[in-house]
Amino acid sequence: MTASSVTPRSAADVAALGAIPRIPFALPCIGEQEIESVVATLRSGWLTTGPKTKVFEEAFAQAVGARHALAVNSGTAALHLALEALGVEADDLVLVPTWTFTATAEVVRYLGAHPVFVDVDAATLNVDVAKLEERIIALKREGGGKLKAMMPVHVGGQACEMDHIVRLACSHGLAIVEDAAHAFPTTVNSASVTERAPRSRMVGSVGHATAFSFYATKTIATGEGGMVTTEDDKMAERIRLMRLHGVSKDAWSRRASPLPPWYYEVLAPGFKYNLTDIASALGLVQLQRQPALVARRTAIAKRYSAAFSGHPAIEPPVLRRPEDVCAWHLYVLRLNPDRLTIDRDQFTRELDARGVGCSVHFIPLHLQPYWRDRYRLTQEMFPVASREFTRVVSLPIYPDMTDGMVDRVIEVVTEVASKCRR
Ligand SMILES: *Cc1c(COP(=O)(O)O)cnc(C)c1O
Repeated sequence: MTASSVTPRSAADVAALGAIPRIPFALPCIGEQEIESVVATLRSGWLTTGPKTKVFEEAFAQAVGARHALAVNSGTAALHLALEALGVEADDLVLVPTWTFTATAEVVRYLGAHPVFVDVDAATLNVDVAKLEERIIALKREGGGKLKAMMPVHVGGQACEMDHIVRLACSHGLAIVEDAAHAFPTTVNSASVTERAPRSRMVGSVGHATAFSFYATKTIATGEGGMVTTEDDKMAERIRLMRLHGVSKDAWSRRASPLPPWYYEVLAPGFKYNLTDIASALGLVQLQRQPALVARRTAIAKRYSAAFSGHPAIEPPVLRRPEDVCAWHLYVLRLNPDRLTIDRDQFTRELDARGVGCSVHFIPLHLQPYWRDRYRLTQEMFPVASREFTRVVSLPIYPDMTDGMVDRVIEVVTEVASKCRR
């Protein structure tokens, strides 16, 4: 039997397409509640940043246990504003793992600063904390006065070793901006930069600032959108200012103020990074549904891992602390090249030919032309990321996947792995 060539856009399409439709790599999980919420906002007459965004921010801050949550129009904007508010400027250095999306490093360049790339841990694909520490010590020895911050990325929704990273930040006077684009909701047992005692916390209440993404494929989707969380009142004030043109108050609070409604002051050359109420209306419903959505993603991950463990040619992802909540934005399968007659690229083509969408997260930044050439990066400088890149495949994992769809992915993956076994 061959898979349908039609790509469904929703779970309903998948059902309508018959026995073996294509299983897309990602689908947003948008229900009637989200649609009603957006329609109500459209009818309210307030489309841009306003009352819905304020409610979304308050609900998000509460969900992660952060003092401030500031809504912005992308995860990239969230990362940029966090670094800007920390005072990162031209020629500063910021530690970035090579295993991430280019947005993490590009925001460093927006400010004229330079990323210093670090290799990752083979088990989790998160930044290798021992190599991070080595790098910090080496830069300090070279008089690294310009080293300002580090940007741990919680790959796939599994938290980095934050307790270690917080200790490094405190002892070396560095700031932590977490890239939590994959990590809502995620928990970690750690100290925070404001509270020394380790305990179980939500990602979003650990570092100096944390950036979330609400891009269409992420665990909370508003199409495009993001959020910065922080405990720091000064940083929150700066981010609030810079996300909307450096204008002293946004349109909504301007309305509530005793000053004339047309009055505003420009205090800095800010950015146009505010989130619309249309997006916040969507985000609020997605936030309320998170317990059920993460439960479904976790169940899919368990079903995959149970089916794949024990197969000599493939390895399920490793959770460092299974008792923590993992957001399961990605399910990254590892291939065992010694046990397969085909390479990763051929493996993904085999899945695609059988109607299973897949992807690769990530092409490490040291392999991307801009970063490689600008900073003279070689594969030998990042042995773990260079090796792991050749054997990762991201499988579909989203709440609207039915058990039938999950089983079909399992069937196809094990069929290809067995057929091409060495
Ligand atoms: C998606 C993503 C971003 C960027 O988020 P946008 O909302 O698309 O700007 C940043 N970092 C990582 C690791 C991501 O996956």
